[in-house]
Amino acid sequence: MSNVIRTDTEALAAAADPAGSAARAAQLLATLPDMDVAARAAGVRDAVAAAGCDALLVTRLVNVRWLTGFTGSAALLLVLPDELVFTTDGRYGEQSEQQLAAAGVDARRTVAGADGQKQAVLAAAAGLKKLGLEAEAVTWGQQRRYDADWFPDAELVATDALVDRLRQTKDAGEVARIEAACAVADAALASVRRRLLEQPTEAEFGLELDTAMRRLGAEGTSFETIIAAGPNGAMPHHRPGTRRIVEGDLVVIDFGSTVDGYCSDMTRTLMVGEPTATQARMLDVVAASQQAGVEAVAAGVDVAAVDKACRDIIDEAGWGEAFSHSTGHGVGLEIHEDPRVAATGAATLAPGAVVTVEPGVYLPEHGGVRIEDTVVVTSDGCRPLTLAPKLVAVA
Ligand code: ZN
Ligand code: ZN
Repeated sequence: MSNVIRTDTEALAAAADPAGSAARAAQLLATLPDMDVAARAAGVRDAVAAAGCDALLVTRLVNVRWLTGFTGSAALLLVLPDELVFTTDGRYGEQSEQQLAAAGVDARRTVAGADGQKQAVLAAAAGLKKLGLEAEAVTWGQQRRYDADWFPDAELVATDALVDRLRQTKDAGEVARIEAACAVADAALASVRRRLLEQPTEAEFGLELDTAMRRLGAEGTSFETIIAAGPNGAMPHHRPGTRRIVEGDLVVIDFGSTVDGYCSDMTRTLMVGEPTATQARMLDVVAASQQAGVEAVAAGVDVAAVDKACRDIIDEAGWGEAFSHSTGHGVGLEIHEDPRVAATGAATLAPGAVVTVEPGVYLPEHGGVRIEDTVVVTSDGCRPLTLAPKLVAVA
């Protein structure tokens, strides 16, 4: 059985060209569909009920954002069977009113100091028997306070990623935002790629890439851009430094932008000048590995199988030890989300999940090669969202 990789050939051609990729990014940014944020609470209520709870106190801010559209830095959201109770502090009164309204979210909203927020949640939670907490997001101290002070009459239940699990499946509006963020990154790389010939430092080149993403319409970067040239490329997460990029360098470029909170993630490894025989082989092997990984992606496939598809090819080349990280991860409002695409991962890919496939080989004497795409999982394969050309020699 062979999976289907849906790549629009016109978009692929545009992504290689500075003007074409910029036009494509602008077009995607201008036509972002609305998201049905208000509909998401229904899935959470089902999950809460299935976990045997009466309600869920959402404290992880990214989950509050996903459920309400609120982007501020402080909030609580109590998901009751028939109501949402949202609290925040005085800094975010106006903002929360606007953002919840824009998202079409109907919630009982309290804007108050810490004690006022607590009282609002306590009043709404009165009579609850089993209240779910987000176990991975609540500190020990918070749990003790919730138990002894906030909800002494309720049984607190440690729930496991109820909202996070729902977030794995992206709706069309979310995919559109990730795709636009990917297109911005494609266009940014196309616009600055040839600067590599002018011997910039890693940091200078990274700054140009970041600036280009902002100019092209990104809100920001989805993580600190990695530019790792020559021997630095052997460190998978090297931070850009003062080393000049010179002929003979493999340059690992791992970067992404954000659009409306949604992240993109892409790695390209560009060769400045002519590769040595080993460098050429590294590029070929990693490209074949990455292609095999993308081809393995489809709904219903175990993440471990995707990892294995990548790893087998690098193992065969004799560089298994030099592929020192897992194959990928989910991407969404966070740059690293579930599902983790790893040999030890137990997850199965769902349609609408957005994941990366990013094998690499790192050899201190020769440099590093990593190639990474962000793809959206479909029923019979995937659709790559990062389209910048691979294996481009900059010469
Ligand atoms: Zn990356
Ligand atoms: Zn990544």
